[in-house]
Amino acid sequence: MTGPKPISRELARERGLLRYFTGKPCKHGHVAERLLSNRECVVCAKLRDVQWLITPKGKAYQRQYRETPKMRNYHREYSRKRYLEKKAANQSVRESCETEDRLRVLKPKEILQLLRAEVTKAGGQEAWAKKAGIDRALVNKVIHQKRPVSRNMMKALGLRVVVVKD
Ligand SMILES: [Zn+2]
Repeated sequence: MTGPKPISRELARERGLLRYFTGKPCKHGHVAERLLSNRECVVCAKLRDVQWLITPKGKAYQRQYRETPKMRNYHREYSRKRYLEKKAANQSVRESCETEDRLRVLKPKEILQLLRAEVTKAGGQEAWAKKAGIDRALVNKVIHQKRPVSRNMMKALGLRVVVVKD
């Protein structure tokens, strides 16, 4: 059997406790501590409370309790706290997205993919080269990986070369 160590009602009273424990089930079969005051099992007491709370009287009591200044204040503080937490969470997500947008590190392969996509969008190598003011032959060589992407091309792609300290 699990549960607290049995302590008689008399001993519990001597020690100034509010509960005692017999280890024997109550009339409803709960093996639980009993209240010193009325010998009621704590599970039965809890159930009685819960059942009372859903009666009209209990509901009225709950309503009244919620309207006390202390509880009103508590609810106001709670929803304010939740609101600020949510706001802060949204803010940090937005900030990290913005930073990632601006500071995305691209691999050479990704730069090439970006170039190919832009060239396709422009309607061909010649069209893109003309638009970007870059020699068409160079664009062709870069696309076929015979030459590295030039700085001017990066600029035309909206990229910036950044040197990062190790
Ligand atoms: Zn009980």
